[in-house]
Amino acid sequence: MIKFQHVSKTFRSKTQTIEALKDVNLTVNKGDIFGVIGFSGAGKSTLIRTVNLLESPSSGEVIVDGKNLAKLSKRKIREEQKKIGMIFQHFHLLNSKTVFENVALPLTLSKGNKRQIENRVIETLEFVGLSDKVHSYPDQLSGGQKQRVGIARALVTNPSVLLCDEATSALDPQTTVSILNLLKKINEQYKITILIITHEMEVIKEICNRVAVMENGRVIETGNVFDIITKPQKETTSNFVKSIVRDDVPVSVYKMLESNKYDGRIFNFKFLGDSSGKPIISQLAKRFNIEVNILFGNITELQQASFGNLIIELIGRQEEIERGIHYAIQEKVEVKEVEESGNRNRYYSERAMGNVVHG
Ligand code: ADP
Repeated sequence: MIKFQHVSKTFRSKTQTIEALKDVNLTVNKGDIFGVIGFSGAGKSTLIRTVNLLESPSSGEVIVDGKNLAKLSKRKIREEQKKIGMIFQHFHLLNSKTVFENVALPLTLSKGNKRQIENRVIETLEFVGLSDKVHSYPDQLSGGQKQRVGIARALVTNPSVLLCDEATSALDPQTTVSILNLLKKINEQYKITILIITHEMEVIKEICNRVAVMENGRVIETGNVFDIITKPQKETTSNFVKSIVRDDVPVSVYKMLESNKYDGRIFNFKFLGDSSGKPIISQLAKRFNIEVNILFGNITELQQASFGNLIIELIGRQEEIERGIHYAIQEKVEVKEVEESGNRNRYYSERAMGNVVHG
């Protein structure tokens, strides 16, 4: 477990003072894959570096597995740092050393038994899928393979926490997926708590169970990944979510609306968790005297649940449409009416339809 309690960090130079972290409070539970997302300069790297004391907080405390490293002796700090593995965007491998030597480094530094070290390194390289690269040099490896070496080096000391500093940002999408799968396997098999910082929402969506959003040194929003993605509260969070989930009205649909081609009323239906598996659209057409015309839709797989977004036209008498909408809301669909407004930024009507429209 990692606890950040009122953590602030100020960098001072002769010419300027930068408040990189401002009163950060966060709890990463044991077994979490916890993501911290934010744009460049938000304070993510500074935050993650306070965990293993690569950066010490100006005020506040960082507690890792019950210990505040900053309060320990230098020798004790080194001992605790061995329980915290870290991987980096640019891998930080020694090019003059083989894969084996790179991975063995944290163990040889602590002068362990040679045979035991060898066994542990081989075992770890096997786990990350690099048994055939033991004697290669970093220059002979692909980016994904280099990151696997970085991961093996971080795991070789059997840490309880793994810190990932933009670990997939230098990799292509396919390699990113394979590295994320490896991180998931580490979390599940070794029960290692993982703290990830990233600017990519895809990474958060793929493997994290909880997320914090940072902006200007502060945590502005935190929660379960499903909740944050389906109901972002802050604008910055919404912008990150938009990079992975389309929840707006596509321009093509908007253009069709402008052409006044439709007689009916246009609605945006959002299906979250409970409602996403139900045949609500077919029920709408069956139970009520209305026609349903689907204009746009997508479904995103999220944390073993699905999150659907549909733009539909409902054609029929007003009372029937209202009854239909009422039914959908009862079935936990989020409903908003889409207006043919001249203002492209305001697709959704804020006008309440009696008491039936939420949000
Ligand atoms: P992120 O990882 O989100 O891009 P950082 O934690 O790297 O953000 O940086 C947060 C702010 O702190 C930035 O304004 C950055 O320039 C500043 N900063 C980070 N490290 C240092 C440092 N060692 N000295 C001075 N300023 C720093």
